[in-house]
Amino acid sequence: MAGTIVSADWVVAAAQQEPRWGWAVRVVDGLIDDSGPTDELRARYGGDEFCDGAGCVLLPGFVNAHVHLYGVLAHGVPAPAAPVADFWGFLDDYWWPLVENALDSEMISAAAAWVTAELAVGGTTSFFDILEAPNALPDGLFAQADAVAGRGLRAVLSFEATERMGAASGQAGLDENVRFVEACRDGSAGGGGRVSGAMCIHTTFTCSEPFIRQAFDLAADLDVFCHAHVNEGVHEGHWCEEHHGMRTLEFYDRIGVASPRFQASQCVQLSPREIDIIAESGIRVSHMPLSNCEVGGGIAPVLELLERGVTVGLGSDGYLNDMFAVMRGAFLLHRAASLDPGAISAASVLHLATEGSARALGLERVGRLEPGWHADLQLVELDLPTPVEAHNLLDQLVLWRSAQHVRKVMVGGDWIVDGGEVIGADIDELRAHTREQAARLWS
Ligand SMILES: [Zn+2]
Repeated sequence: MAGTIVSADWVVAAAQQEPRWGWAVRVVDGLIDDSGPTDELRARYGGDEFCDGAGCVLLPGFVNAHVHLYGVLAHGVPAPAAPVADFWGFLDDYWWPLVENALDSEMISAAAAWVTAELAVGGTTSFFDILEAPNALPDGLFAQADAVAGRGLRAVLSFEATERMGAASGQAGLDENVRFVEACRDGSAGGGGRVSGAMCIHTTFTCSEPFIRQAFDLAADLDVFCHAHVNEGVHEGHWCEEHHGMRTLEFYDRIGVASPRFQASQCVQLSPREIDIIAESGIRVSHMPLSNCEVGGGIAPVLELLERGVTVGLGSDGYLNDMFAVMRGAFLLHRAASLDPGAISAASVLHLATEGSARALGLERVGRLEPGWHADLQLVELDLPTPVEAHNLLDQLVLWRSAQHVRKVMVGGDWIVDGGEVIGADIDELRAHTREQAARLWS
């Protein structure tokens, strides 16, 4: 079968492997089929299409482990008159009434169409989204999926079920996820098969114990992960101590749901015992360094989690969706917090943004450019003012490149970005429509 050979000045097949100069990969039927020196591959597969990535580095596409596509509509939203006092105030005075409760399907679709283009153009090839829009039930998730499927990215979409607006609304959220997982599997939602579903709840302070158990039971029945936001600031740990007499992850452990099926995002304020529970139970974590700063949540103990062997991915939280910026955030924040300029390397943050996130989301054979792995890749321009060499390539990439330097992006063997532009998307029209929907939300 004929394939496509994608070459570049440098190839980073996996974040923690040595970069290779003058290398290429061969893509057949959506998968990486072979790799080697460009001349050798071209001689071996004479009938293949050839994509010349001269001047670029070829690397795996980013996996954004945690997005809220609708979040773009809140960029610049007028803040409440009184300053928000803490994380609870952020949710109760601002995020819930002014953003999530006001979302409808048209706004959700517009945001999804815009942000998926933004993600693609910045080199992201897979993402996990959490939609919370209790007044867009039922079918809000299905409206979002239609917009996502057209972009060609690999995506896991979920509805964040919560009882904060009552038991019926909570059940409708769980039901939305069950219907969506099944619809993606039978092909009636999600388009071309790159979109799937998951189970998702909000937090312990908006979900009762029976509701949480029900969500995890449904996730087990469907064989999907169950996501929850965990200890994004100090609020949830204190709330759990007050209401359950123990901290958040001790509570999840007590009710029997601490396991690899649990995908816990944020995990910013963790006690030593909570770190033990994550490490011992195999809970998978996603880390959002920039949005943790935005909401004043603190600095997640990511270095300690990594040392303990925890699976950690990296996400934007729908805040700054440029994964280069998110990687820089992690790189800088953990060096500052640990008073150690060697605390985390460019290779480590690139690993979190690719294979780490894929593992956190259970995406198999995603995050490396090795034979048998999905052909999810990006070509990034290397027109830097200092020489690019094997020893500095990843620093150059993480510190001095951004979304605007991404030239081409492929997902599952299909090009979705070419020449720095999203194929088949009218960006001006998408921007105008998103702005219109944001104005409607703000009003
Ligand atoms: Zn979030």
